[in-house]
Amino acid sequence: MTETLVQAWKSSRAKLEAAGVDQPVIDARLMLEAAAGVSRMDILTDPQRALTDEQQATLDSYLDRRAKREPISHILGRKGFWKIMITVTPQVLTPRADTETVVETVLSQFPEAMKFTMLDLGVGSGAILLAILAERPAAKGLGVDISEEALAVARENAANLDLAGRVSLLRGDWTAGLHDAQFDLVTANPPYIPSQDIETLDPEVRDHEPRLALDGGPDGLDAYRILAPEILRVLKPGGLFVVEIGFDQSLAVEALFKAAGAHDVKTKKDLSDRHRVVTGFKNPLET
Ligand code: GLN
Repeated sequence: MTETLVQAWKSSRAKLEAAGVDQPVIDARLMLEAAAGVSRMDILTDPQRALTDEQQATLDSYLDRRAKREPISHILGRKGFWKIMITVTPQVLTPRADTETVVETVLSQFPEAMKFTMLDLGVGSGAILLAILAERPAAKGLGVDISEEALAVARENAANLDLAGRVSLLRGDWTAGLHDAQFDLVTANPPYIPSQDIETLDPEVRDHEPRLALDGGPDGLDAYRILAPEILRVLKPGGLFVVEIGFDQSLAVEALFKAAGAHDVKTKKDLSDRHRVVTGFKNPLET
């Protein structure tokens, strides 16, 4: 016997709640929508519609996976970020709402019609790069990642969003392969979690997301020690950088960028009022 849409929603919620999932109401709805091929509106306007056997089996398998704390982004294969939908695999960090602070900061500095070049270091799924390019039609971007699998995901996302013509992707160790190229904007969301904190993260993150995208070394700042001087090197004079940080890393990351010669270094908060982004400029007179 299969359930109706409304029954399925309720029982899914109860199963996820019992499993200790963080947002059981939303996750239950998203999995039901995907398994039954319905919209939120269908659930509300046609609640007595019965699932087919196949839809029920799909929903049950999604629920089993989610109850074992597999991230919903891995089950559905996608995640909404800013105004775009991003394909997600276990090889890339799932885009977080916190990271939208990076996008917001950039968009506030670059008017819509402006022509500019951007570099995203550790491009992963492409979320930051593509969310910005989607809203800045005269801009072009390069995404660098050390992971070939991540670049494949970013390439697929660029194509799905019709942005492939303005996106280049390069395999590389941060800026190592860039020679003397310079950009108007550099963004990055590097790994910044202290190694010993990884075991304390939620199982969704700890057991399912790529360590390469999370582990920032003993104090979480390994990537920034490399990136601060290198970002200043690959910025054009007067160029802007916007990078994501851990909520308690503002002072340390600001200091690294100031030591590298950055100007007007500031920290911005995310929607939860936590320090999340460090931003600043390269001196316009420097080369
Ligand atoms: N904010 C992410 C998390 O808490 C970490 C992202 C990162 O290390 N860049 O899982």
